[in-house]
Amino acid sequence: MRSVAELDERIVGCRACPRLVAWREETARVRRPAFRDWEYWGRPVPGFGPADAAMLLVGLAPAAHGGNRTGRMFTGDRAGDVLFRALYDVGLANQPTSTHRGDGMTLRGVRMTAPVHCAPPANRPTVTERDTCRAWLTNELRLLRPTLRSVVVLGGFGWQAAWPALAATGRPAPRPRPRFGHGVRVTLPAVPDVAGPLEVFGCYHVSQQNTFTGRLTPAMVREVLTAAAESAGLR
Ligand code: SF4
Repeated sequence: MRSVAELDERIVGCRACPRLVAWREETARVRRPAFRDWEYWGRPVPGFGPADAAMLLVGLAPAAHGGNRTGRMFTGDRAGDVLFRALYDVGLANQPTSTHRGDGMTLRGVRMTAPVHCAPPANRPTVTERDTCRAWLTNELRLLRPTLRSVVVLGGFGWQAAWPALAATGRPAPRPRPRFGHGVRVTLPAVPDVAGPLEVFGCYHVSQQNTFTGRLTPAMVREVLTAAAESAGLR
């Protein structure tokens, strides 16, 4: 794959995981009453943001009635509301809300993606599904490699998924592999053809479960995003 645009196009056509293909399409057909008038996306959701991003956010998977409905990462659900608001607050998004493709949302220097591109039942992909989807994440990291300076991983699932993909692009994890935690920061040394190290940050996932309970506050999200943006030269 030669470009991020080509990658995105190919992801959207993927049907490699039978359980997820069935679920994403069933959800799109049945719909939630509140979104009865929507034509759901119902396909894999590609990454969102510039192809020369200096910073990458790695989540979990699209939500059944969020990304799987709107066709854009973190768009149209409560988790996305928190994340886009925080990105806006630290100067990385041009508007605080993200409701649908074509709403004018632009990210500055940041791209967001997921280790699993299809909405899973109960937000829980299987290990096989995670590993099947890894090729897309590896390719995305490879394409972003010349410009990428920081990665923010939202949640433990993404943390487990990101390290093998980073290793496949020449950025192996330190041994032993760092444990996931909010505020964890790991510096991967510079590699020959890319100037500068890559900083990997852990952040609790912006799920409702975390934000409604106060485990993760908007200030905590802003703090990690700010540190990652500084590492990436975006502030
Ligand atoms: S989860 Fe990934 S590998 Fe599986 S069908 Fe969706 S895009 Fe393809």
